[in-house]
Amino acid sequence: YNSRSGNTLVARAIGKLRVKDIKSLAIVVRESASVYDAVVTMFTEDVGTLSVVDGEGYLVGIVSRKDLLKIAIGGGDVQKMPIGMVMTRMPNIVTITPDDTVYLAARRLISHQIDALPVVRTYVMPNGEERLEVVGRLTKTNITRLFVELGDGEN
Ligand code: ADP
Repeated sequence: YNSRSGNTLVARAIGKLRVKDIKSLAIVVRESASVYDAVVTMFTEDVGTLSVVDGEGYLVGIVSRKDLLKIAIGGGDVQKMPIGMVMTRMPNIVTITPDDTVYLAARRLISHQIDALPVVRTYVMPNGEERLEVVGRLTKTNITRLFVELGDGEN
């Protein structure tokens, strides 16, 4: 055993882990929901990021804690303002698919400096347009939990 081959083994093991093996359930709000509703959902579901969907359930945006804090300190009417006005919108959403590796997801979280990725499946509509269905979320917590599980055997 030497550390170089040990690292190669670890890298290989990590490369086999898929997003579908560790993802969490999708937590979504409709784009017509109010900022107030989104805050309540964050508390009741105990998450920091929400996926925002249109009336047909397809991904249109994402909203984080800081997006909501910005509105709160800006003095906006949180009961009236729709979440669609404050979210980060498509096509600027960084996503991942169930069959992608956890490693790719972690790289995206780091390179884009974000906490969560919506896990999506792509549907091609009859007119050729692509829509994303949200099938889960992959967060820094999922990766931390995995890290602990991987370490549990040896420590
Ligand atoms: P917080 O704002 O609570 O620190 P993040 O660091 O994840 O949470 O979010 C930073 C910004 O990036 C926010 O404006 C948020 O809307 C946006 N954002 C979060 N996740 C994504 C994502 N997967 N794709 C694109 N933008 C995102």
